Amino acid sequence: MPHSPPPTDHEAQQPPFPASSDATPRPIETQNPGANIQYQLFLDCVHCGLCTASCPTYVELGDENDSPRGRIYLMRAVTDGRLALNREVRRHLELCLDCRACETACPSGVQYGKLIEPFRVAMEQHAGDGASAADRKTNDWFHRWILFGVFPYPGRMRKLLWPARVAQRLGLMRLAESLRLTRLLPRRLQQLVTMLPPPRKAEAPLPETLPAKGPRRAKVALFTGCVGDVMFRHAHWATARVLQENGCEVVIPRDQACCGAIHFHAGSSEPAQMLADANVAAFAAADCDAVIVNVAGCGSMLKDYGHHWDDARTAARESFAHKVRDINEFLDELGFIPPRGELPLKVTYHDACHLVHAQKVREAPRKLLRQIPGLQLVDLPESELCCGAAGTYNLTEPEMSARLSQRKFNNILKTGANVVATANAGCLLQIMREARLQNEKLEIVHPVELLDRSYQAKA
Ligand code: SF4
Ligand code: SF4
Repeated sequence: MPHSPPPTDHEAQQPPFPASSDATPRPIETQNPGANIQYQLFLDCVHCGLCTASCPTYVELGDENDSPRGRIYLMRAVTDGRLALNREVRRHLELCLDCRACETACPSGVQYGKLIEPFRVAMEQHAGDGASAADRKTNDWFHRWILFGVFPYPGRMRKLLWPARVAQRLGLMRLAESLRLTRLLPRRLQQLVTMLPPPRKAEAPLPETLPAKGPRRAKVALFTGCVGDVMFRHAHWATARVLQENGCEVVIPRDQACCGAIHFHAGSSEPAQMLADANVAAFAAADCDAVIVNVAGCGSMLKDYGHHWDDARTAARESFAHKVRDINEFLDELGFIPPRGELPLKVTYHDACHLVHAQKVREAPRKLLRQIPGLQLVDLPESELCCGAAGTYNLTEPEMSARLSQRKFNNILKTGANVVATANAGCLLQIMREARLQNEKLEIVHPVELLDRSYQAKA
């Protein structure tokens, strides 16, 4: 695959990036992080800059290197061997939320996710001298023990959270926060503790199957995931009930695993691939018409299984990925049976990046919510700008995450809504946390919870 093409006309239009510390072209290294990226994907960018206004990091920092155009330029220059992957370049790439708002904005169809994701995976695998030993050590323990060791496993996560849950119930967490004792924890753990939503009644695990109500219209399998199952099992129950109301038999495969996004987006491709293959096998056994997911980040990862890895199992992953549907998307496609229970609520809807930008699901959730009797849906300014959650970004990049979270919440307050709906676990946690920090009493829910409530209210 050629990696040193001649300069194109686009080179002349390049934006004013700072001079590199190593601007001299040099031979391509075997550990080049762009080596496995199809080079044409870089060339699709014509440097028009129409994406910059939609990029959260550019909007906040105003630095061209923190814009989509800038990052594509940096990745390409590193791939060409014209720029060293030094610490500064790495920081610009690490600060990207992978929110894909640039893909939605780009008139040239640039597939930014296919550039940044493999590039960052390779960047982590060949850390080189761009990351300091301290950086690597800090990231190591957090990634190894928390992000990789606990998050993907709901059982382990419940055990880890148990003391925090007890402290919450006894009011000790609030006390520790008010005495600023949580500041004694390492920075990322502090962030993790503050993300924990208030305890709610424990929900029973979902059974292996739930029958359709009325004539069966489809047989679907529900993806329950890891963090989603620990924090939002009530949303899984709501999803299953809404599917039943819409004539779906629901299967919940027991052998399913985490979608792999936590590993993959942190640059750890092999464990992500093993999780993907476990899911492909578990859902193949369910023999269903569609795989339903209610967490946008997981949905986006599941839909991408077919092109993340190229080996003998690629076809099986592709066929699985074709069946994956976000719950909003699926109900809209199936022909939604509207609920009849009145919900006199003023609701605003936040677009989760991995739903609107990565999966292009924009109208379906709004269409469904508008069919709830009595519900008033009001527009959210900048609804498509990331809230700063972005998978585990709020744990690994807390400063930028906090800026975006405050910006999102200020926009929410402007709507005067008393309920915020969003279809992603990370966004729910992020907005809930911001509401607590700002001491605002807002209800923050998955849209499917409102649909479920309306069906239940009908009786
Ligand atoms: S990514 Fe698209 S919108 Fe952004 S500069 Fe490149 S071509 Fe233009
Ligand atoms: S993915 Fe999001 S943060 Fe990254 S460059 Fe694109 S718009 Fe900016």
